[in-house]
Amino acid sequence: MSPSADLASSLSTLPAPSLRRLRVRVTPPAERHLRDGHPWLYDTSISEVDGEGAPGDFAVVFDRKNRFLSIGLYDPTSPIRVRMLHAGKPAPIDAAWFRARSANARTLRAPLEDPDRPRTDGYRLVNGESDGFPGLVVDRYAETLVVKLYTPGWIPHLPVLLPALLEVQPADRLVLRLNRSMRREPAFLHGLTDGQILFGPPLASPVVFSENGLRFEADPLHGQKTGFFLDQRENRSRVEELSRGREVLNVFSYTGGFSLYAARGGARSVTSVDLSAPAIAGVERNFALNMDVPRVRSCPHHPVVGDAFDVLSGLAQSQRRFGLVVLDPPMFAQSKSQVEPALEAYRRLCRMGLAVLESGGTLVQASCSARVPAEAFFSALEETADAAGRPLRDIQCTAHAVDHPARFLESSYLKCLFATA
Ligand code: SAH
Repeated sequence: MSPSADLASSLSTLPAPSLRRLRVRVTPPAERHLRDGHPWLYDTSISEVDGEGAPGDFAVVFDRKNRFLSIGLYDPTSPIRVRMLHAGKPAPIDAAWFRARSANARTLRAPLEDPDRPRTDGYRLVNGESDGFPGLVVDRYAETLVVKLYTPGWIPHLPVLLPALLEVQPADRLVLRLNRSMRREPAFLHGLTDGQILFGPPLASPVVFSENGLRFEADPLHGQKTGFFLDQRENRSRVEELSRGREVLNVFSYTGGFSLYAARGGARSVTSVDLSAPAIAGVERNFALNMDVPRVRSCPHHPVVGDAFDVLSGLAQSQRRFGLVVLDPPMFAQSKSQVEPALEAYRRLCRMGLAVLESGGTLVQASCSARVPAEAFFSALEETADAAGRPLRDIQCTAHAVDHPARFLESSYLKCLFATA
C-alpha cells in the first residue's frame, strides 16, 4: 500500500469531524488575553457556551459586541477548554490552512538544513502553540516523523491535518504519541494508541539521525520525550567549542548528547552520569555510532549509572576535578508551590558542580522548569557561586533554539547558564 493509503487505513476508525461550531463567550480579562494573542482559554474564563462540546469541535469565540474574535479546538477533558487556532478575520480551518501553517514551520527550520552546514535531520518541526498548532508537537528524526498530541481535540482532524503536513515534510514513517492524560480517555481516542505507527515500516530498533554531523539514535517509542532532547542542540554546540583539552563531566546525561559534542570538541575525557541504565547504554551506543570521528574515537569515555547527587559528592570526596561540568537535570517544578524547592535543588546542584570544577573551569547549568522564571534561576546560581567563593565570570545565558520557538510565557521553559568559575 502507498503511504497515503496506509495512513488512511490507520485513521479509518475515526468519525467524520463534527460540523458543529460552538458559540463561546468569555470574561473580559480572557477577551483581553485572547486579543493579545494568548492561545489558551480556560474553562473558568468561559461565561457562556451553547452546548456540550466534544473533543475537536471548533469553538468560535465572540467578543462583547458579538463580533468574531477567534476560533479554536474544544477539549472538554482539559481545564484548557479551547486552544486557539486563528484570530482576526474568520477563515476556514481546512487542508490549505494546515498546509500553510506546516510550511511556515518548515521555513523557520530551513537554516538547520543548510547544505553548507554539517547534517542535521533531527529537529522539532512543529512546536505546538508557538507554531500555530496548539497542543501538537512534531519531531523529525531523519525519515521518521513523531507526532505527539497533548489534546484529544486533534484526533478528529488528523485525516485532514496529517496529509497536509506530509505534503510539506514527506517521511517514510509516522509514529503517533499520546500524552499521559489522553491515554486515560480511551473513549476519545477512537482506537488510536500511543506508539502506533500510522504508516511505514515497524520500528524494530531506534532511529538513527544526524545532529550537526554527529549521529545519534532516538527511540520514539520507549525513549524520554519523543526519543531525544532536541532542545539542547545549540547548547551542545557551545559545549563542543569549550571542551578542548578538558576533562568533561556530563551529569544527567540521558543518551549523551553533550558527551558526544564534548568528545568531538577535543575533550581529554568524558564522564557521563545518569540514573537510568538504559540511558547510559544509549550513550555508549551513540559513541559507537561516531567512531569514524577521530576525536570521538580517541576520547576515553566513562559511563556511570547512579544518582547525580551521590555521584557528585563521591567525586568531590575523592578530590576529582573537571574542566567543564554540565548539569542538565529533569524538570524540578511542576506547580507554583514547587518553585522554591526547585530553586533550592538548583542551588544545591550548583554548589556540588562547583565542588568538582577546577579553578577557571566552565560551569554549564540548565533548567527546563517552565515554572521557574529565568531571572530567578540565573540569580540563584550567581548567588550560590558567590557564597561558595567561586564568583561566576563571562556569564552567558541562553534560551530556546530556533526549532523550539516560545511565543507566550507558559511555553518558555529552557534556560542555560555558561560561566567561568
Ligand atoms: N542532557 C540530556 C537530557 C537530560 S534529561 C541531553 O542533552 O540529552 C534528564 C535526565 O536526568 C534523564 O536522562 C533522567 O534519567 C536523568 N535523571 C533523573 N533523575 C536523576 C538523578 N537523580 N540522578 C541522575 N540522573 C537523573
